[in-house]
Amino acid sequence: MEFRHVPVLFGETIESLRIQPNGVYVDCTAGGGGHSAAILERLSPEGLLIAIDRDPDAIENLRQKFGGAPNVRVVHENYINVARVVSEMGLAGVNGVLADLGVSSYQRYTPERGFSFHLDAPLDMRMSQEGLSAFDVVNPSDEAELRRIFFAYGEEKFASSIAGRIVAARKIKPVETTLELAEIIKSGIPAKARREGGHPARRVFQAIRIEVNGELENLQQSVYEMFGVLAVGGVLSVITFHSLEDRTVKNVFRELSTGCTCPPDFPVCVCGKTPRGRVCCKKGPSAKELEENPRARSAKLRSIEKLK
Ligand code: SAH
Repeated sequence: MEFRHVPVLFGETIESLRIQPNGVYVDCTAGGGGHSAAILERLSPEGLLIAIDRDPDAIENLRQKFGGAPNVRVVHENYINVARVVSEMGLAGVNGVLADLGVSSYQRYTPERGFSFHLDAPLDMRMSQEGLSAFDVVNPSDEAELRRIFFAYGEEKFASSIAGRIVAARKIKPVETTLELAEIIKSGIPAKARREGGHPARRVFQAIRIEVNGELENLQQSVYEMFGVLAVGGVLSVITFHSLEDRTVKNVFRELSTGCTCPPDFPVCVCGKTPRGRVCCKKGPSAKELEENPRARSAKLRSIEKLK
């Protein structure tokens, strides 16, 4: 199994965590282990790295990579359960948490995982390799549901016409493979628009992937859970890859870093709320990184420090 992943905003992310050698750090999306390895390098034998991923292939790879290290725990979990993972280890709070959202290059470029519109494979796209697959979204959903998914999770302008094409194609036979789907999507986009903004199937594939993996549904709660496991002074850093994810993270961070919520015309504060966090970093990729790594195109890093 080849497990290569070029992480984006790498140096910025590691720096944002302000790693203390004896601290405890949770990598919620350990994937190919790039960020995890950099965290581990900065830890002393008293420090601890908890490397989480929901993908069994990633876990196997992480166990091979870090299995022998006494200060690493590799955990096969969904990051929404990070609080349980941390408390089961008897830890009261951790010094840093990282989430590098989205799919890994390994997932994207392993044909049989069915994420890529370039590689022909059965429609799958499940990060955890269990539950409903892309096939189960594309084939049984009615036209309105497909339209909603493409529009909400892909911001696809031609959601209606693409959903119509899929429903028409399904009358002849189920849509079974990535390339079949990519062709149908293309046929639902006017020729002029097909030439703009990258591969014509990109947005719909993103939308289906988000639906299959419940990525946005669970993100808000997950970010609160990640913040919740921090000790005072700890930092949560999240890397997002599209505006929908980024908006969710930004809104949670805003809520956490907002103090008083009294209406502005109240002469004195009656809610007594003070901020729980302080936003400490917001970064996008440098021009150099954009040139070297197309995955960095819409990446954003946001960090928040826990104040209380
Ligand atoms: N930073 C990593 C790459 C992360 S890619 C590196 O340096 O190699 C994103 C990873 O997050 C994928 O492996 C994916 O399986 C995992 N992932 C996505 N959603 C998850 C979730 N809800 N819980 C746990 N892992 C998740």
